[in-house]
Amino acid sequence: MEQTQTIHSVLRKYWGFESFRPMQEQIIRSVMDGHDTLALMPTGGGKSLTYQVPAMAQEGVCIVITPLIALMKDQVDNLQRRGISAVAVHSGLTPRQIDIALDNCVYGDVKFLYIAPERIATEIFRLRVQKMHVSLLAVDEAHCISQWGYDFRPSYLRIAEIRALIPATPILALTASATKVVEADIIDKLVLAEPAVLRSSFARSNLSYSVRNVEDKNEQLMRVVSNVPGSGIVYVRTRDGAEKIAAWLQQQGESADYYHGGLPNAERSLRQEDWSAGRTRIMVATNAFGMGIDKSDVRFVAHYTMCDSLESYYQEAGRAGRDGKRSYAVLLVSPDDEDRVVKRFESEFPPIDEIKSIYEKVCNYVQVAIGDGLQSSFMFNIHDFAAREHIFTGKIQNALKILQQNGYLTLTEEMENPARIMFCVSRDDLYKIRVERNDLDHFLRVVLRMYNGVFTEFRAIDECEIASKCGYTLEHVKELFKRLWQMRIIRYVPSNRSPILFFNEERLPTDDIYIAPETFLRRKEMMHERFSKMLEYASGQERCRSRMLSEYFGDTEAEDCGICDICIARRKTSKSAATKADLQAQILAKLSKQALSVRDLIAEFRCDPQPILDTLKTMHEKGIIQTNNDGLMTPKG
Ligand code: ADP
Ligand code: MG
Repeated sequence: MEQTQTIHSVLRKYWGFESFRPMQEQIIRSVMDGHDTLALMPTGGGKSLTYQVPAMAQEGVCIVITPLIALMKDQVDNLQRRGISAVAVHSGLTPRQIDIALDNCVYGDVKFLYIAPERIATEIFRLRVQKMHVSLLAVDEAHCISQWGYDFRPSYLRIAEIRALIPATPILALTASATKVVEADIIDKLVLAEPAVLRSSFARSNLSYSVRNVEDKNEQLMRVVSNVPGSGIVYVRTRDGAEKIAAWLQQQGESADYYHGGLPNAERSLRQEDWSAGRTRIMVATNAFGMGIDKSDVRFVAHYTMCDSLESYYQEAGRAGRDGKRSYAVLLVSPDDEDRVVKRFESEFPPIDEIKSIYEKVCNYVQVAIGDGLQSSFMFNIHDFAAREHIFTGKIQNALKILQQNGYLTLTEEMENPARIMFCVSRDDLYKIRVERNDLDHFLRVVLRMYNGVFTEFRAIDECEIASKCGYTLEHVKELFKRLWQMRIIRYVPSNRSPILFFNEERLPTDDIYIAPETFLRRKEMMHERFSKMLEYASGQERCRSRMLSEYFGDTEAEDCGICDICIARRKTSKSAATKADLQAQILAKLSKQALSVRDLIAEFRCDPQPILDTLKTMHEKGIIQTNNDGLMTPKG
């Protein structure tokens, strides 16, 4: 009882929510009672609160392991906005920043430490974690621990070692996608002790799924757009496609805009804001559009092209109807789509030799020599690399993923990167410059004091911190770095947005790279299986779509939704079957009383003659009635 009150008041106090979503309370109670817990809940179901509420209701810091840096930042911002102290530790930070963050967890009042999996094996983390008072270890995206899952990350396997360092702390493993095999694997690899396994439903009762097989997708899209009022998202595969379809919708007089990863940061935020506020009605986007969409009244999500998997489809389609009102998820399919998906798969899956060659090219691209690179991180713009090497982006992604699964490197998703500098003059020359340029002396002294290694290699710097130490504005600091760069005193990479490539191991000679055939084949198989399920969904004619999705996520108790295209079609057929049977009975009753001509019979019914003519035809064929020589009909036999 007391616990119930506590968690409800925490929910109200920090989040302002009145009640829990399905399953949240059970998960929270299980964790607070000290049980290891595995929670399966769909994306958007509210997994974060299941570790955030217990953490706020208890003493100590909650460690959250999650591979998605963007999500980490999002969550940290979110918590900080609610006055809760939270930090993030990932490969995009400088060692100094990591040091400070971890220290705050030991000595400060930090409630949440978000940490990337590849960071938990580091010595610095292991030493500190033992000094922390950890209330809960939350493992987000827990399916990443399973080799049987598509997103396997070897670094997840080391979570059990951390657990061993803090044996009294319960673990909460969270995932939105786990087959039975993966579920068992999570329990095994995390060494969960008699875990409570809690699963919430994947059904969305207000979301009507449908698939439209059409030659002309534009026409069909237009139909959706004009039939469904309110705002919507149209997902397409390519950046180019997003721009074209948005332009086409605009030509048709619709309020539409596009969004993809190629747009500058600020531009993206602006567009997202316009759409969120309802100033733009339709957003045409690639899958880059998704993080942090908190719009509850999205009325439709149309997919112009197929996703690679039902996981992605469910997640993207699920952005519709968060407010619980009727919404539509429409998948547009044209006859040659299946071929296209299969071809894409063939062209995007590199053979082992090519994976090795991509490894070599990537190392050269980020300028890591053989024997170097251990535990270091680099900005890696995959589109630039793809353009330079003339390789498909998808192929590079797959190659990197397989290299990652073999433990060589980790590619994070796109993130905001700190500025980096390196001095390109000697210490002596720099001293001369400082004497000559009095105006720069103060600034240079501060920078050198804060970053003493900058003479030999690029170092990430924190321009805000420099600004506060110098007493300058951030703009002025950036300005000074630019000036130093123009004077050829430093090399300067301003902060930007790109994925980070982290080397778990030093660079090896290409011939020494070993790709375990199992990981390679399994990934190929799994990719195949994933898009096969997507194709199966797209071509399905019989099973309820919502049920197909639920079953895909391992929910075997799902029921027919009653509102997808399949359920609706089924209801229509059975309804018309019912009226047909009914009509047949009425006709028979009339003809039993007296023989009638077709014309007389129709006159008796006083309704649309076509169904009666159809039914009469069937009744003749089945031998239920006959037409006699006088042209009048009577029951047969
Ligand atoms: P998941 O991690 O399962 O994908 P999140 O934890 O990101 O989902 O939550 C999705 C959204 O649902 C968030 O915007 C969150 O604020 C909201 N949410 C979660 N729990 C509740 C609740 N009990 N009441 C209202 N909104 C909630
Ligand atoms: Mg989540």
